Parts: sequence; C-alpha cells; structure tokens
Amino acid sequence: MPGYNTHRRFNYAVLLIVAALFYFRGIRIFDLVQFLILGAGFYAGTEFITPDLDVKSRAIKRWGVFKILWYPYLILFEHGKSSHNIIYGAFVRLLYIIAIILGLYYLLFSALPSDFMIIPLGYVITFITGIILANGLHVVLDMLF
Ligand SMILES: [Zn+2]
Repeated sequence: MPGYNTHRRFNYAVLLIVAALFYFRGIRIFDLVQFLILGAGFYAGTEFITPDLDVKSRAIKRWGVFKILWYPYLILFEHGKSSHNIIYGAFVRLLYIIAIILGLYYLLFSALPSDFMIIPLGYVITFITGIILANGLHVVLDMLF
C-alpha cells in the first residue's frame, strides 16, 4: 500500500489537475469561498481524517497528543477493511470523531453545546465533501497499488 506521503502527493496532484481543468474549461461549480472551504475539507481529509487511521500510521501521529482519541478506532477497525470503504468509511470516521468531541464536551460542561450550528449548513456540507473526496482518492490509490 502507498505510504502517507504518496497519498498526500497523489491527492494534491489530483486536486490541482481537476481544479485547473475546471478553471480553464470555464466550469464554475463553486465560488471562491466554497472552493476554499472544499480545499480545507480536502486538506483535513488528506492529512488528518484518513482511512489509514485504522493502523499505526503517520496519519495518527499527525494528531499529536490527540492521537489517543483514535486508539479505540484503531482497535475497532481492522486495517484496510471497512475503514477503507469508499462509500461509508469517511462517514464512520466523521461520526466517530464528532461523537468523541461531543462526549468530551459533555464531560467538561455537563451539557451539549446549544449553538454548534452557527456555521451555515452549506459550508459544513462543502467541508465534509472535501473530506470525502480526499478519502475516496486515498482508497482509489490503495486499490491501484
Ligand atoms: Zn490506506
């Protein structure tokens, strides 16, 4: 399977090529803000919320002290199996980390945040789309090599 840096290079190369194709063909799906949000999600999906969180990898080390949050995930998911599912792998990771963040928030404040949807839903969906696209490219590259 390709290493962490190979996945990073592949993801960013594909993003740049696709963005350049869309730009030079005059295809405008996103405005600049949406593209930047998509890029931020793509960055998060390439660097931090990757399918390789199911194995002791550089992706886990990138979380620094917070890598401990991914240890249960590491135990729950066998490497290269459902975590690497192109359809629901990214959703499971997102649900996992959101549940942990909300759980920690609840432990600290004895309540759940009341206004955590202050960010427009369209931007949240665009950000998550970036993560899903990055994770999808990761899985595709794993299938190729
Ligand atoms: Zn992988």
